[in-house]
Amino acid sequence: MNKDKINQFFSILQKENPTPEGELNYTNTYTMLVAVVLSAQATDVGVNKATKTLFEIVETPQDMIELGLKRLKTHIKTIGLYNTKAINVIKLSHALIEDHNGGVPETREELVKLAGVGRKTANVVLNMAFGQPTIAVDTHIFRISNRTKLATGKNVTEVERKLEKRIPDEFKRHAHHWLILLGRYICKARKPECPRCPVNQICPYKDKTL
Ligand code: SF4
Repeated sequence: MNKDKINQFFSILQKENPTPEGELNYTNTYTMLVAVVLSAQATDVGVNKATKTLFEIVETPQDMIELGLKRLKTHIKTIGLYNTKAINVIKLSHALIEDHNGGVPETREELVKLAGVGRKTANVVLNMAFGQPTIAVDTHIFRISNRTKLATGKNVTEVERKLEKRIPDEFKRHAHHWLILLGRYICKARKPECPRCPVNQICPYKDKTL
């Protein structure tokens, strides 16, 4: 996709939804970090169900430590990989208290040192909590980037690098959510709904549905 097309692509998505938002529920930056860690290989809906009562009683890393591993597991047991995720959440809560005065760090380097936080999770938190123009390439963004030729690549890192280079600065802040929502509801994995896709005039995907 050339520069003009990329501009058109994001202008259309911006017009449709000027301030897109993610669908994970949280109450502050700390609970956002926890929700994003829990959402790895799980749906936002599933995570929201599990955190509904958890985030009524937990607002800070200290609250989480006081809740304890056993009770945390009871809250999140409907989420895949909950045992490991619970251990990571308790570990990262300790680290936030010990190394960051209970706050959430604002750099990728510091975030990825926390238990359960990889590059993708860090990018999501930097974007959602701190408004940084990061792109976290998940399965939806990977698929759309390749289908539309916005950024082709064999792995998420390759696609992330290309997206960071190609997306114009003015669209970077919201690009992450525009692409995720497009992938979740329209450009679906099995059968994309091209006829109702807002960018179907620009998209060069050869297997577009009629
Ligand atoms: S036109 Fe079809 S393939 Fe292209 S982005 Fe839209 S839904 Fe996906």
